[in-house]
Amino acid sequence: MKENPSILDKYPDYEVTIGMEVHVQLITNTKLFCSSSNAITDIPNVHICQICTGQPGVLPVLNKQVVIAGVKAGLALNCDIQLRSIFARKHYFYPDLPKDYQITQTDFPICLNGHLAIKLPDGSTKKIRLARIHIEEDAGKNVHSSLGHESFVDFNRAGTPLLEVVSHPDLSSAYETREYLKNLRLIVQYLQIGTGNMEEGAFRADTNISVRKKGAKEFGTRCELKNINSFKYISDAIEYEIERHITTLEAGKKLFQETRLWDTKEGVTKVMRSKEEAVDYRYLTDPDLPSIDLDAEFIAQIKTQMPELPFERLTRYMNDGLSEYEADILITDLSIAQFYEKARSYTKSKHLINWVLRDFLGLLKQEKLEPSTCKITPEMLAKLVEMLDSGAINNRAAQEIFSDMATTGQDPHTIMEKKGLQQMGDTKELELMVQNLIKEYPDKAAELKEGRDRLRGFFVGEVMKKTQGKGNPQLINQILDSLLKQ
Ligand SMILES: [Zn+2]
Repeated sequence: MKENPSILDKYPDYEVTIGMEVHVQLITNTKLFCSSSNAITDIPNVHICQICTGQPGVLPVLNKQVVIAGVKAGLALNCDIQLRSIFARKHYFYPDLPKDYQITQTDFPICLNGHLAIKLPDGSTKKIRLARIHIEEDAGKNVHSSLGHESFVDFNRAGTPLLEVVSHPDLSSAYETREYLKNLRLIVQYLQIGTGNMEEGAFRADTNISVRKKGAKEFGTRCELKNINSFKYISDAIEYEIERHITTLEAGKKLFQETRLWDTKEGVTKVMRSKEEAVDYRYLTDPDLPSIDLDAEFIAQIKTQMPELPFERLTRYMNDGLSEYEADILITDLSIAQFYEKARSYTKSKHLINWVLRDFLGLLKQEKLEPSTCKITPEMLAKLVEMLDSGAINNRAAQEIFSDMATTGQDPHTIMEKKGLQQMGDTKELELMVQNLIKEYPDKAAELKEGRDRLRGFFVGEVMKKTQGKGNPQLINQILDSLLKQ
């Protein structure tokens, strides 16, 4: 893995400090404090009730699924799970926030501390420390009419559960930030607490970035990058900000603390709002909600339900003989990993991984398929690899059978017989063909004998043509060698 050149290479005197705040939308049946559905829908205001629309006199009731998700995330991220955590109200006015306050956790979040390891380009690992994980509710959505004079509010998302994962400012490049986000998202997906879908806003990352001269005691002026919905854009925006900060400082100008957005069309960040003074959210402990009190037994119970985590799977695959590169591709997509493991249960062939990563993944990309919608099953692919290994078919035939399986969904053996793709292993017949060729091209045969190995391809190719591609190239080579020795 080679790190992309960073703008930082141009300014070796500077260093960058990045901290992340990630909002993870949780997969639960119902919302955080009411029984309204947490399902995604395009029809506005159907998953709402008195509680999540902030009607007077209602009482919120905590969803236990969310607490379990918070504990799972905390365990996976090496946090200190807090036995007591407390909800607070964060007051601000916005049309999509019907209560005029958001319920969140401030001084007493469900998890404190923790860390997530990332891999650096040189192969070493770096621990990114976490400050906290807290539970909070999401807001609704304002929808502005294209006519420009009407706005609507959709409360379907209001009161849906989020986990906010806050890191310390331990990241120091766009590369590290991307690795951190990728790893965090994988953990969320492995825990099955969230989809991690960035385009849908189910995994939202806010980046706090500042730049300072190396050795400086104080942090530089901090800017926040908000609402960027892809790893690539976050990475591009960070690179842009690093350059903007450094060139501003080099020109002797002042930076302002502000929130900025990434303009994907122009490839620049733009000011969203400046933070001239800190907003007073008038936090107060929510009087309607009791504290969350966990006991050690509850946490121990959740520990027993923890799935295998990405890095654990990586280690297992490498112990099973895969390279780190191969294992890394597999663990980043659970459905591919599951496909591989299923196929692996049918064959011990070391060629299987190539077929999964090269041919199967290639097919999925090309045809825009998922393993579940592809006609090739793990069992079929394993069988194909075994047929190839045993010499029943050659590589060319295997490719043809693979394509056929993808369209017909037929068993590889059936396809082989249907198309007559069995490899010609009849030594006598092949011997005769090679003998005739040597007679036909005595000069070439003599040259090959004298060591012009380039001509080997000619002879093998001619035999393959005569067998319509069904000859066993290894066998042909052997025959050629023994005949030339005579
Ligand atoms: Zn509701």
